Amino acid sequence: MKPLQNKTILITGGSRGIGAAVVGAAMARGASVAFTYHHSAETAETLAQEMTAQYPDQQCLALACDVADLAAMQQMIKGVIEQFGRVDALVNNAGITRDTALARMSRQQWDEVITTNLGSMYNAIQPLLLQLVKQRAGAIVNLSSAVAIYGTRGQANYAAAKGGIIGFTKALSAEVAPFGVRVNAVAPGYVDTDMMAGLSEEKLSYIKSRISLGRLGQPEEVATLVCFLASDEASYITGQIFQVDGGITL
Ligand code: NDP
Repeated sequence: MKPLQNKTILITGGSRGIGAAVVGAAMARGASVAFTYHHSAETAETLAQEMTAQYPDQQCLALACDVADLAAMQQMIKGVIEQFGRVDALVNNAGITRDTALARMSRQQWDEVITTNLGSMYNAIQPLLLQLVKQRAGAIVNLSSAVAIYGTRGQANYAAAKGGIIGFTKALSAEVAPFGVRVNAVAPGYVDTDMMAGLSEEKLSYIKSRISLGRLGQPEEVATLVCFLASDEASYITGQIFQVDGGITL
């Protein structure tokens, strides 16, 4: 039996990058998937169609929904529960950056990053929590960042949001463990996605020089851990933060 056989996984921001890799990895492990996107409708629909063609006995649903919009998230989650009957795991992956030094950072750049990366934790989890508690089973995997642990210039807003996710993950895991719900976070280092696009060759080679394994991570290398934490194979793991960063902090 595959590790996510007969499970329903809800993934925010599944149209590209790490989220898309989680969609693929979860389907390959037997899950049915509902994933959200914000702007990339065509990419998202194509991914959902490819997945459904590749795994005809499983469902893959692409849903337009802004994680920063609580009412839209409440409605989306209600619809997913109605369609699938239950949600076994939620992967809070959607995220953005608005990098600049704090001295130049607008309040809007601050707010957008905090709302999308950290506010979305409330928007995705609060409306689903009662369902998970009723099920007496569920796994939540939150995407933090290694930047929250070691800090970096130009990302004060992002580090604050991702650091908030670490505290949030630990606090929530203690709250919901008695109901059989596990909450963990994955903190990737530099992963080769659109989020990294636009970096100069000079900056990229500096970054690589700081990574013990000497290269960027691939989205699939993060997705593997996310799927493990979402599965029953991780049944005794909760409240933990896992760095997947090629040894950047060593
Ligand atoms: P990408 O920029 O490649 O993809 C971001 C995804 O999030 C897209 O699917 C995008 O949807 C979605 N998204 C963004 N904003 C919203 C929103 N408001 N509502 C719904 N969906 C939204 O990012 P990555 O794959 O690189 O990153 C995924 C996660 O991993 C993020 O939380 C990021 O912070 C974290 N991370 C990434 C690292 C990296 O090096 N790449 C390092 C550490 C952490 P759409 O396509 O529609 O825009």
